[in-house]
Amino acid sequence: MIKIEHIGIAVKDLESTNELYAKLFGESHYKEEKVESENVTTSFFRVGTNKIELLQADSEESSIHKFIERKKEGVHHIAFLVEDIYYEIDRLKKEGFIFINDQPKEGADNKLICFIHPKSANGVLIELCQQIKSDPS
Ligand code: ZN
Repeated sequence: MIKIEHIGIAVKDLESTNELYAKLFGESHYKEEKVESENVTTSFFRVGTNKIELLQADSEESSIHKFIERKKEGVHHIAFLVEDIYYEIDRLKKEGFIFINDQPKEGADNKLICFIHPKSANGVLIELCQQIKSDPS
């Protein structure tokens, strides 16, 4: 794994949280993006070399909606950047980690993503993400 790519925070209201976090960081978010596959709208802030991802549910089917129902707003996941997501999935499955999805899917911010189940990581939802290579940016 290369580094912590971002920390994901589940929020009820993206608009007001965007304003709050802009005050916190002294800088507005640099992008907002709907992720259809997850039924969420995300908002990204840069903090030095790190990123914070705010996630708001777009429907009751969204895992963010279910998370907030169960646990209220708060830290939802920690995302680690990897060079080769398929290699890491294979490696971690052999180590006994349980994946929520072991077929990577397209997430926000031009990434392939997959999630390790919190029950195999001390209650922490872990996201692996890999930059999609064709990204020109
Ligand atoms: Zn994330």
